Amino acid sequence: MENTLPLLTIAVPCYNEEEILEKSITELTSVLSGLMNTAKISPDSRLLFIDDGSKDRTWGIIYRESIKNKCVTGIKLARNVGHQKALLAGLHKAGAVSDCVISIDADLQDDIKVIEKFVGKYHEGFDVVYGVRSSRDTDTYFKRTSAQTFYHFMNKLGIHLIYNHADCRLLSRRVLQELSHYQEENLFLRGIVPLIGYRSTEVHYERKGRTAGVSKYPLKKMLSFAFDGITSFSVAPIRMITSLGVALFFVSVLAASYALLQKMMGFTYAGWTSLMISIWFLGGLQLMGIGMIGEYIGKVFVEVKKRPKYAIDVDLYSNPSTILLEK
Ligand code: UDP
Ligand code: MG
Repeated sequence: MENTLPLLTIAVPCYNEEEILEKSITELTSVLSGLMNTAKISPDSRLLFIDDGSKDRTWGIIYRESIKNKCVTGIKLARNVGHQKALLAGLHKAGAVSDCVISIDADLQDDIKVIEKFVGKYHEGFDVVYGVRSSRDTDTYFKRTSAQTFYHFMNKLGIHLIYNHADCRLLSRRVLQELSHYQEENLFLRGIVPLIGYRSTEVHYERKGRTAGVSKYPLKKMLSFAFDGITSFSVAPIRMITSLGVALFFVSVLAASYALLQKMMGFTYAGWTSLMISIWFLGGLQLMGIGMIGEYIGKVFVEVKKRPKYAIDVDLYSNPSTILLEK
C-alpha cells in the first residue's frame, strides 16, 4: 500500500526568515504528518527548505531541524539568487525523486490548509494545481492595484496568467520533467507553468498578512519582476514601438507636404517652436525604441551564455549522511 502513495515534497524558499521559520516548520510538519497519517502521501514525503543565501540564522534553523525532524531537509544556495531561482533549485532537486512538489512561501501568508486541498486534487488526477488568492485585503492598496494592472496588461499582450495566482502551486512529476527543459535565464514560472499544459485546476484560499519578518519584495524588485515577466514572454512592446513608428511616418509625410505647400504658396513661419517640439518628441521616441530593443538584446546576451542558475553549497536532500559528517 505504502509504495503506491505519492511521494510529496513541499519546497519552501527562504531568505532571512529567522523570525518566522521555526513556526513555519512546526505548522508545515503538522500538515505533512496529518497527510501521512491519513495515508494520502508516502511516509517518505519531505519539507525541503531552500536557503537563498540568507544572512541571518535561517540556515542554522533549517540544519538543526533537519537533525531533529525526519520530515525536514534543506539545501543552502551559495548566495542570494532571488525567489524564482531559489524555488527553481528546489523544484529541480525535488522533481528528480518526488511524485509531486508543492511550492509555498516561508512566511505562512498563504493559508497552509491549501496543501491538503492540493493533494486532494492530485489524487483526482490533476497535474497542476494553482493556488489562487480569493482576496488581497491584507496587501497594501498599492500592491493590490499594481498587481491588478500587471495581470490586466499581461492578458492584453496575450500572455496567459492565472489571475491572483503567485507561486503557491502543486506540480506533478511529469510537469517538473517538462519544466527542466526550459533553460532560459529569466524564468518566469507563473507564465511558463500554464505554457506546459496538462490537466490543471485552481484552489482558492485566503492570503493573510505577514505575522513576522518583512517582505523581501520592495517596489524596485517588484517592478523589475513585472518587467522581466513582460519582456521574457512577449515581443508586443517592440511591435507597439514599430506600429507607432509607422503611424508617425505617415503623420510626418502629411506634415511635410503641408509645410511644403505653405512654402510654395509664399507663407513662411518662424517655426522655432514646432521644430523644437518635434526634435524633442522624436528624440524621446527614438530613445524609447532603442531602449526597448536594447532590453531584448540584453536578454539574448544573457540567454546565450546558458549559465547555471544556482550553485548548491550543502545538500541534505540528496545526501542525508552530510548531517552526520558535518556534526
Ligand atoms: N525569498 C527568497 N529569496 C529572495 C526573496 C524572497 O527565497 O531573494 C523568499 C522569502 O523568504 C519568502 C518568499 O520568497 O519565502 C516570498 O517572499 P516575500 O514574502 O518577501 O514576498 P511577498 O509575499 O511580500 O511578495
Ligand atoms: Mg510573503
